[in-house]
Amino acid sequence: MSDRPFRLHDTLTGKVKELIPLEPRHLKFYSCGPTVYSYAHIGNFRSFLTADLVVRTAKAIGWDVTWVSNITDVGHLTMDDMADAGGEDKLEGALRSKEGERFHNVWELAEYYAAAYLEDWQRLNLTEPDIRPKATQHVREQILAAESLIKSGHAYETSSGVYFSVESRPDYGKLSGNTDRESLIRGARDVVTDETKRDPADFAIWKKDEKHLMQWFSPYGWGFPGWHIECSVMARAYLGDTLDLHSGGEDNIFPHHECEIAQSEALTGKPFANHWLHTRFLLVNGEKMSKSKGNFFTVRDLLSQGTHPLALRYALISGVYSKQLNFTLQTLEDAKRHVQRFEKALQLAESAQGDGPNVFGDSLDDLYDQALEAMLNDLNTAVALAKSIEGAKQITKESELNAASGEAAARFLDQINRLLGIVNSDYEAVAVKVEEAKPEPKADAAWVEAKIAERAAAKKAKDFALADAIRKEVTEAGVVLQDHPDGTTTWSVD
Ligand code: AMP
Ligand code: ZN
Repeated sequence: MSDRPFRLHDTLTGKVKELIPLEPRHLKFYSCGPTVYSYAHIGNFRSFLTADLVVRTAKAIGWDVTWVSNITDVGHLTMDDMADAGGEDKLEGALRSKEGERFHNVWELAEYYAAAYLEDWQRLNLTEPDIRPKATQHVREQILAAESLIKSGHAYETSSGVYFSVESRPDYGKLSGNTDRESLIRGARDVVTDETKRDPADFAIWKKDEKHLMQWFSPYGWGFPGWHIECSVMARAYLGDTLDLHSGGEDNIFPHHECEIAQSEALTGKPFANHWLHTRFLLVNGEKMSKSKGNFFTVRDLLSQGTHPLALRYALISGVYSKQLNFTLQTLEDAKRHVQRFEKALQLAESAQGDGPNVFGDSLDDLYDQALEAMLNDLNTAVALAKSIEGAKQITKESELNAASGEAAARFLDQINRLLGIVNSDYEAVAVKVEEAKPEPKADAAWVEAKIAERAAAKKAKDFALADAIRKEVTEAGVVLQDHPDGTTTWSVD
C-alpha cells in the first residue's frame, strides 16, 4: 500500500507531478481557510473539500499528515484582486452592513462567523485539521516578520505602512506568471495609488491605522497586518520553512500566494512550498456566484432547505478540482440519489446474516483499489465516485446478504467513506449551536430612547428603584447611559 505515487497538479511548474514530502511519508500541508466576515459559500467549500480529499488520500496510502488550515480574522481588504489591496477590512465592512447590525463589535462578528464555518465544516464531513490558527493570534510573528524584512532590505516603512518591495525579488511572479508590472499598476484602477510607496506594485505587510477596529501596537505605531503575511508566518510557525504542499482556490494564485512566496522566501532564503494546488471555481448555472444575480448559496442556505449534507458534499466533489464545476440543482438531485444508494447498501451490510460464500469475490476490493488509484491520479473524484457507485450498485442488487458478503460490503463502504467521506458522517448530527449562540440583536435606537424617557419619568416621580432597574436592563442590552448635569441622558453602544 505504501509506495504508490500520489500525483497532483502543481501550479508552480504547470504540471501534474508526484507529491514528494521532504520527510518520507509525512505530508506537511497548509491550506488557506476563509475570511470570517460572512457565512462561507459553496464555492469556498469546494476549495476546502479539495484540501480534505488530499488529506484523506494521503492517509489512505499510509502517510502521516500535519495539516494546518487558518482562519483569517483580520487584514483581508475588500479590493483584493491586486497585490496591494485597497478598500476597507472585510470584517469592518461586514460590521457596518445590514447583517452586521446584530453584533456589538468586530470581534464578536469574527467569532460568530468562525463558529458558523466550523459547523458547516462538520456538516459537510470534512476531516479536522491538526491546527487551525487565527491571524489575530499571530500578530506578534507578523510584526517580527516585518522587522526582519525591513532589516534585510526587502521591505520599507512609509507614512502609511510597511511595504514589501517587489523589485527586491527578481522571481516575483513565478507562481502566477504575472510578471508584467504594468498590469499590476493598472490593477490599481479604483484605488487611489498610495504615493508613499516606492513602486505601485509593492504590497502591504503592515497598515498604519489608528481608526481600525482591530489594531495592535507595533514599531510603526498602531495598525494591523496585511493579509498575505499572516499565512506566511502561520505556515512557518507550525510547519517549518518549507512546506510540502500549499493549497487554495484559483483566485488565491495572485495576489495572495504570489505575495506569500515573495515574503517567505525573502525571510528564510529557502523554497516556501514544494507543491502548489489550486481549485478552480465553482460556478452556479454557468455563472460566477454573486448576491445580485441571486445564484449565491451558502452551505446553510442549502441545508436549511432540506438538502442532505452528504448529498451537498457529493455534488461539490463530483467534478475534478482542476476544472471549473458547474453546480446545478440537477447535480444536487443526482447526488441525493447516490447518497441514498450508499445508505441502502449500508443497511444491507449491517443486517447481513447467515452462512454462505462472499458473493462479491474480489470485485469490491478491486473497485476500492480503482477508486484510490483515481484519487492518487490528481484527485480524480469523478472516476473515484463512479467506482464507489459501481460498488454500491453491486451491493444493492442483492435483496439480502449473508455474513461473509456483509463483511465484504461493510469493508468496502468503510474504505470508500474514509477516502471520500460520502457514505457516513464522522460527525453525529451536528448541533445547530451557532444559531442558538446568535448574539441578541443590538438594542435599536427607538427602544433605547423609550427606555431613557421611561427612566427620566421614574426619576421625576422619585421612583429610583424603577430608574435603576431600567438602567440595568439597558446595560444588559450592551448600551451605556451617560447622565449629564443638565438632566439629559445620552447613550452609546458598549
Ligand atoms: P475567502 O474567504 O474569500 O478568503 O475564500 C476562502 C477560499 O475559497 C479561498 O481559498 C478562495 O480561493 C476560495 N474560493 C472563493 N470563491 C470560490 C469559488 N467560487 N469556487 C471555489 N473556490 C472559491
Ligand atoms: Zn492564505
